[in-house]
Amino acid sequence: MADDIRWLDHILDENCEFEQRVRREMLPVQRTPGSVGVITCMDPRVNLEAIGIPQFGLNGESDSPIRVVRTIGAMPEARSLIIGTFLAGIREFVVLMHTDCGCCLAFSKVDTIIENLKRRLSPSKFERFHADIGDPFRENLIKWLKAFEDPRQAVREEIDNLRTLSFVPDDVVFHGLLYNLDSGKVEVVVNGYEDHINAARPSKFSPELRERAVPLVLDGRGEHASHWAAITSISSKIGCTRETLRRWVIQAERNACKRPGLTTNEREELTTPRCA
Ligand SMILES: [Zn+2]
Repeated sequence: MADDIRWLDHILDENCEFEQRVRREMLPVQRTPGSVGVITCMDPRVNLEAIGIPQFGLNGESDSPIRVVRTIGAMPEARSLIIGTFLAGIREFVVLMHTDCGCCLAFSKVDTIIENLKRRLSPSKFERFHADIGDPFRENLIKWLKAFEDPRQAVREEIDNLRTLSFVPDDVVFHGLLYNLDSGKVEVVVNGYEDHINAARPSKFSPELRERAVPLVLDGRGEHASHWAAITSISSKIGCTRETLRRWVIQAERNACKRPGLTTNEREELTTPRCA
């Protein structure tokens, strides 16, 4: 695009060409029912062809029924989930995270964001924003941005959060994938089918073992390079899978009100049949 052409003019020129090129009868006009959706990042380097979502054809045609939500860090807002689930009929979501995400950059460069906010906003606007975020401003801003250090850990946590949302039915399946920008390869971080089977299966581990294992992760975090490293090391020692231990830790944090979601008592209350 030449510097002397403003972007809006360029868009309108492109649209003229598009209108002449496409065949109207080929354009997707009817709504297509779809049962799957992809939640991915707004980063233009994430190529959805990598997971089998084709681009529109030259004539403007598309036969893909897959809904795509693009938002920074592949973390959707509630509205897309509600309309996607209860109107479009989505029963299975893929959360497609990628390497080198802007959310990762935001974690290490939050001070740059703050400096730029101060420079670009009027003082009164900045104060309003500061009040919305609250203090401690820097820490709260990182949480509010959902900035993260480790994309795999972020996928796992995001899927845990999605599952506990009050309006998400239990039968909706969430998979977590990581797309590698360097190679184009997709790695499965959370297999939603396995999670469903595990959630329905009674635990073969005693409550005592569970009570001993969780503090080892929570209290020993400083001894390991990351939360996930702590889970990997301790799960291998006690003989359960990493996923099982991770779920125990999440539930313990919920019980201690350190994480949103139902506590064990609340969950039992909901699943225990009541006499009329
Ligand atoms: Zn990203």
